[in-house]
Amino acid sequence: MSLVQKNTSEASKWYLPGILGGLTITGKHMLKNLFNRKQMITLNYPEEKYEYSPRFKGNHVLTVKKDGSLRCTACMLCATNCPAECITILAAEHEDPTVEKYPIKYEIDILRCVFCGFCEEACPVDAVRMGPEWQTPAINGGNFQYGIEYLAYRPQLKGGILTVVDDEERHKSGI
Ligand code: SF4
Ligand code: SF4
Repeated sequence: MSLVQKNTSEASKWYLPGILGGLTITGKHMLKNLFNRKQMITLNYPEEKYEYSPRFKGNHVLTVKKDGSLRCTACMLCATNCPAECITILAAEHEDPTVEKYPIKYEIDILRCVFCGFCEEACPVDAVRMGPEWQTPAINGGNFQYGIEYLAYRPQLKGGILTVVDDEERHKSGI
């Protein structure tokens, strides 16, 4: 038996009832939206923006220590764990012997990122987090290579997001 049922009634041969029926439904929705804007499903983007959950995993943030320097120790765990292979890190020795390596280059190719959150999960020192930002417009490909300046110090972060892993506490715990 065919799953497609053809309407062969006499009324279906006339277009006008169908058009009027369609217009009635559209008109009903229009009036409902005009008089009950709170229940309107669509948003007037970009004037109105959707509020995502605080757990939303958006653009990356490199956290900073109390002195404003990067928390990242360039251990490469995030880059190794990244399924899209979009994190590039270049490590260097720090002049302060109490500080391990640090990244002189930390870059995320955001166009390859799949926003899986594995980098955040892999990081042992809360150095990389995924924040609430999800709008990433740019006018050329180069703007989608996020470097340290953007990841840690972009204006939206207002001076940088403080890490929860303190150096003194870490050393006391032997890590
Ligand atoms: S969110 Fe996933 S794909 Fe994106 S940088 Fe992190 S690990 Fe890689
Ligand atoms: S962000 Fe975390 S996991 Fe990635 S290199 Fe830095 S310290 Fe290691």
